[in-house]
Amino acid sequence: MASTFLPAVGRIAVCGGTHGNELSGVYLVQEMERMRKEKGDNVWPVPVITVLSNPQAVKECKRYIGTDLNRCFSSATLSAPITDSTPYEVRRAQELNALLGPKESAGATDLICDLHNTTSNLGLTLIHYTTDDWLTLHICKYLQARATDANQTSTRNPLYETTVFVPFVFVCMCVLTCVVMCTFKKKITRVPVRVLVMDIPISAAYSLETVSKHGFSIEVGPQPSGVIRADIYEVMKEAVDLTMDWIKIFNSGTVFEGGDIEVFILQKSIDYPREPSTRELIAAIHPQLQDRDFCLLKRGDPVFLTFSGETVKYEDDETLHPFFINECAYYEKGIAFHLAKKRKLSIPRMQVQK
Ligand SMILES: [Zn+2]
Repeated sequence: MASTFLPAVGRIAVCGGTHGNELSGVYLVQEMERMRKEKGDNVWPVPVITVLSNPQAVKECKRYIGTDLNRCFSSATLSAPITDSTPYEVRRAQELNALLGPKESAGATDLICDLHNTTSNLGLTLIHYTTDDWLTLHICKYLQARATDANQTSTRNPLYETTVFVPFVFVCMCVLTCVVMCTFKKKITRVPVRVLVMDIPISAAYSLETVSKHGFSIEVGPQPSGVIRADIYEVMKEAVDLTMDWIKIFNSGTVFEGGDIEVFILQKSIDYPREPSTRELIAAIHPQLQDRDFCLLKRGDPVFLTFSGETVKYEDDETLHPFFINECAYYEKGIAFHLAKKRKLSIPRMQVQK
């Protein structure tokens, strides 16, 4: 297969606090700024801009002040005139577009990683907007492969399987296993890596990462809003480190072979059952669906449990994959969960343009 050639990745941005109460990204950006102070700019393979996207919301530990910042990056909102009644986040989106974009321009940042948490059991999910951004999809494929390796490594660890206790062999295996495990501990994610494609035209796409030429959101959960969990932070940090590794390898001229990548494509959203006149909730996510993000949902499966104890079943004939199940920030948006279709995308072999 012929290679696709793309320019080297020269400038990237890592953004946290786009939602001010999603703390892994807030603390990771602060940690990266500390590392830069301590070790200098060469700590990363390319220049990295670190951004606290919504500093006012971070200060107040709220998702947003006036409106959801991560819905403000469509071309229309970015070019809207500023008036006295313009929300803080729309002004901030235009500032960030000037800093990291302008969106859809040759001068835009090459790649934005925007860091998010969710209260749903999403594991590590990479979200982006097109099915033909080969560079972003290659990074996603690279992260997925590392997760697969991690699972294989843990099940094949010879230290736990051996039944013959020969001191010399045992010592050798200990040393070898420690080397392998230390390497993987630094480099390999410990949860499944899923790729979610929104498939919305870039000009209409409303998320921060759409300001750059390539890019994606890194969503890690479950983590309650306003809470920091070390395990979730570690997964996010590993994802950012692996992205940096990929950029370094790509820029050095390594050929990335093409192939298939499994992605989930957003299809539709489902709201909670509500009382028609007041819009009050009358049911919660069913215990059999809670925490089962990306399972296969088929007709007849329980989805909600009403407060009087009745099960509400999934009525659609199409089997789909639910995700963002019971995300706390989506109650106000009228979303109990999204539904996606699983697909395989073929991506071409890729290397850097010399
Ligand atoms: Zn978020």
